Amino acid sequence: MATPPSAPPKPKLVRLPPLPPADTVYHRIRKRVHLIFFLIFVALPFFNVMRFDIPRQRFYFAGFELWINEFAIIFFALMFFMFVIAASAILHGRVYCSYACPQMIFSEWSITVERWAQQRINRRFPKWPAARKKIAQQSIFYSVLLVASVFLAFVFTAYFVEPRDLLARLFSFDLQTAGGITGAIVTAITFLDFTLVRLRFCTTVCPYGYLQGMLQDRNTLLVIYRDGKDEQKVCIECKKCVRVCEMGIDIRESPYQIECVHCGECIDACEDVLRKVGRPGLIHYAWGEQSAPAPAAKQREPLLHRLGLRDAKRIGIALILVFYLFGLMAVLSMRRPVMVRVIPDRTTLFQDLGDGRIGNTIRLHLVNRGSTPTEVRFWVENLPGAEIGITPNPLTLAPGEEIQRSFELRAHPWSGAQDVNRFRFLAQPSNETTPDQFDLTFIMPVPKPTR
Ligand code: SF4
Ligand code: SF4
Repeated sequence: MATPPSAPPKPKLVRLPPLPPADTVYHRIRKRVHLIFFLIFVALPFFNVMRFDIPRQRFYFAGFELWINEFAIIFFALMFFMFVIAASAILHGRVYCSYACPQMIFSEWSITVERWAQQRINRRFPKWPAARKKIAQQSIFYSVLLVASVFLAFVFTAYFVEPRDLLARLFSFDLQTAGGITGAIVTAITFLDFTLVRLRFCTTVCPYGYLQGMLQDRNTLLVIYRDGKDEQKVCIECKKCVRVCEMGIDIRESPYQIECVHCGECIDACEDVLRKVGRPGLIHYAWGEQSAPAPAAKQREPLLHRLGLRDAKRIGIALILVFYLFGLMAVLSMRRPVMVRVIPDRTTLFQDLGDGRIGNTIRLHLVNRGSTPTEVRFWVENLPGAEIGITPNPLTLAPGEEIQRSFELRAHPWSGAQDVNRFRFLAQPSNETTPDQFDLTFIMPVPKPTR
């Protein structure tokens, strides 16, 4: 008969007087940060800080209204967000997942509501049979989640549809237009997500966890378990760190588990247990596996290191982010709210207007992308006696107004005129300091050769 393998030696933990509670409780910090990010998530579309209005084809960013024909700026603004998230993964690991991601915030909130409903029914009706208790708990939970799903779906859809328009559709129970149907589908998905999927989303669907594995290096922030060996071992195998982990993992096995979102709940749990027997916790945030344990590091390390700027690579990333942001803000501030496009219509080269004048047709495209009305004045240079067929001149454009029209540019042949005459067309919006300039040609009949 095979003898069973001998059990590992049990640590001889000497019980010491209890330590005071830990100064830093990550659960508390995280819930405060969650509240801040929740408010930001709700506020962004309503204050046009970031919103993609699909029906009107506009992108709102930092208060600027960008039109779809300014795609280059839109692209660089979206890239900036992608870059911020990637940079935060390199510097701070999965801090975005556990502190800022809406999926994480609402999933944890949904778990809290479920537990709250269970506790409430158990306390109020301790004598009810288990089946009745379950029905009551689930009724409360699903009712709260339904109301929350309508609200969250409304906020989420407001990133793509004008919020007032969306509200009108919601109150009229619009299930016929694309906007109304989209709102109903998003509500259903939100409800299913926060009742059934929740944190499973992070380990099955979300690609960010896998991306994080590629981005991290030896200095990336980790949640790490450190303990002595054999008789020096302090862990009392209480497994509280495993029980509190919503991702269902044991951080003691490895700090590189893909499921770990670096929330720090296991850190709080271990501190809570071991401080009662006079020891500090065994789990910490640490800048890579080789760095000093967090409490010691906190006392010794300079501020830049503690912020995650620990090597040239990280300082480089931070500088690129700062330059990118300045560049983006400079491009946005230099952007001209009034777009003017002028193109000669060469369907007919010129027209003899019968009064001795020659006319050239020009196509004009004006867009006021700003939020205030503006006037645009037009004139030409190097075309003697020319008359611009735009009335009135200046033209008034309301916010968001677009004008496309053709007009005639008329001129008498002047001495020295050629068949092709170069001139400059200028358009001055009232809210700009410099005019838009277009170098064009005015076509005249070929002068008859003199005999
Ligand atoms: S909470 Fe701490 S002491 Fe308890 S099992 Fe986890 S690491 Fe060990
Ligand atoms: S192992 Fe710890 S830090 Fe990682 S997800 Fe679980 S509780 Fe959060």
